[in-house]
Amino acid sequence: APASTAIIGAGIAGIACGLALKAHNLPVRLFDKARSPGGRMSSRRLKDARVDLGAQFFSVRDPSFHRQVIAWRKAGVVASWPDSLWEASESGWQRHQDDVERLIGVPRMSAVTRHLAEGLEVVSGTRIERLEPKGSQWWLVDQHDERHGPFDRVVIATPPPQSRALLLPHEPALADACEAIIQRPCWAAWACFDAPLPSLPGVDDDWQAVRLAADPGRSPAGDPLRFVSRNDHKPGRHGQGESLSLLARLEWSEEHLDLDTETAARRLLDAFREHLPAGVELPASTSLGAHLWRYAQPDVFAAGEAVNLDHRRSPAGLALCGDGWRGPRVEDAWLSGHHLGEALAADAP
Ligand code: FAD
Repeated sequence: APASTAIIGAGIAGIACGLALKAHNLPVRLFDKARSPGGRMSSRRLKDARVDLGAQFFSVRDPSFHRQVIAWRKAGVVASWPDSLWEASESGWQRHQDDVERLIGVPRMSAVTRHLAEGLEVVSGTRIERLEPKGSQWWLVDQHDERHGPFDRVVIATPPPQSRALLLPHEPALADACEAIIQRPCWAAWACFDAPLPSLPGVDDDWQAVRLAADPGRSPAGDPLRFVSRNDHKPGRHGQGESLSLLARLEWSEEHLDLDTETAARRLLDAFREHLPAGVELPASTSLGAHLWRYAQPDVFAAGEAVNLDHRRSPAGLALCGDGWRGPRVEDAWLSGHHLGEALAADAP
């Protein structure tokens, strides 16, 4: 029989790996602890809005990723966004212009992974807690002590700090490699409003997103906000009420891990108010909340060369992929998973 593969983690990396194996007619099953696939490309469904709390957009540099994105465009699950990106600094709001192509999922970021996962067998709500070797194969054991398998190979497509615990009893050297990759946390908040945002002097009324420049008068850990987007100004979401996604600076997030979600959301919204011209008031908020991503982004500077590995494999049939092995973006995660899937297919019996 062809080699069977289990993939732990159905984020974009695990899914890309699964699709590469499936394209070679190899049996593959994915497991994710969350209710639906997507990982850090997920979106939250609120009463009045669909808000993106993970990746806000992604850019395209690599030719093979570019070919994928053309197919996703044809399927109607991505579109260009934002075309009205701003930068707010001490000298006010300025339109940001460059030649980088940026895309977003339609009608929400999670549409991309949802579409890709359609052709795959994904077991959701299943947290894999340990691996058990049996001869040359592997069993996966979940949070209810239920066993899945056996599989010839196991791909771990979770952030390296989470992969480490699964590997430690079997592959201490790979577990050490995971330890070298630091994933930094990030607070992500939402705020829904009972009316549209007011006009800002000198700014297009249809502004879609704004980057907040670091405040030179504050330490990064004391400067909360780095990016704000308007969810109702994203493709496929017109007609939903006004809502903002507010992403914190990583340094600030690291200093504020212990905040409760409501306080974190309030602090980020207050920080946004500080970037509005004097006299401009936000409408009343109808819903406010936040999510802490403990492993939001690999620290590419701390990881040094480790981050350029793309993916890792062991002779015993365990393998690792995900953004942590390549770089801090959706594109890196997809490439890492896709390349690992191709490599596994190339030497499948
Ligand atoms: P993940 O998406 O984290 O997938 C891992 C999956 O593993 C998750 O679904 C998780 O539920 C599952 N899992 C973990 N442990 C287990 C277990 N034991 N058993 C079963 N399942 C498990 N990138 C950009 O390109 N542009 C951006 O603007 C951008 N902004 C971002 C903003 C934020 C707030 C965050 C958090 C990330 C952002 N990123 C951005 C990064 C991008 O989202 C990630 O690089 C990419 O989504 C990572 O994909 P992945 O598949 O490697 O990991």
